Amino acid sequence: MSAASPSAARRPRVLVANDDGIFSPGIKALGLAMSEWADVVVVAPDVEQSAVGHGITIRRPLRFKHTAAAGFGDIPAYRVDGTPADCVVLGVHLLGPPDLVVSGINIGPNLGDDLTHSGTVAAAIEGLTLGLPSIAFSQMSNPAGEYEFGASAAYAAKLAREVVARGLPPRVLLNVNFPAQAARGVRVTRVGAHRWVDSLLTRQDPEGRDYHWVAGVSTAHDSDDESTDYGAIHAGYVSVSPVRLDLTAQDLLGEVEGYAPAL
Ligand code: MN
Repeated sequence: MSAASPSAARRPRVLVANDDGIFSPGIKALGLAMSEWADVVVVAPDVEQSAVGHGITIRRPLRFKHTAAAGFGDIPAYRVDGTPADCVVLGVHLLGPPDLVVSGINIGPNLGDDLTHSGTVAAAIEGLTLGLPSIAFSQMSNPAGEYEFGASAAYAAKLAREVVARGLPPRVLLNVNFPAQAARGVRVTRVGAHRWVDSLLTRQDPEGRDYHWVAGVSTAHDSDDESTDYGAIHAGYVSVSPVRLDLTAQDLLGEVEGYAPAL
């Protein structure tokens, strides 16, 4: 590990997680970029855990295994047979609290309503609940379905360094999405309307019994509003959204007060 010399100031510690699994090229790019300026540990699911949301595993034990095969070189990398949130819990408790939690770079964007089912974002939320500054990173694919993470990872490292220096308010994370191609610039955005409606495919197994496959179709987005996350990346910009974990509809407190029955 490229540890600082004894006389130098302590290097920041960064925990890198994801939901695509420890062998994803996105987490490799992110971990290596962070290691340019921080002491990195990688803790990631052993298999893909996309769309598991903020699930945690409480009904069975978890394993935490050092994994040299993931290609991180001298960076300590561990795989967990659990969810992205489990990875952050185990990483923080077993390796000590880092100065920052980062998650990604996810294969595919996490925008609008995606934030509620995203395992990538959940890892960052778990960082928040443990009191740590946290950032989630995701990227769109190009029309050929390919990903080039180099420039995104370099930007992620620059932004992360800024966040370590400044901190983030309690219960606020940054959700960052990269466009597929070279970005035109950076937009600080609000979480927009990227909505999905579940669809269900029913087929039959070889025994003739029905099985069901949950899918979804994207039904709404605001692609022409560059003040939103969706609009920004579709216009070719990096989208950086500050996201607050407090989901209260502040504007409706009075209205609900008016009709919630008394006991
Ligand atoms: Mn994923």
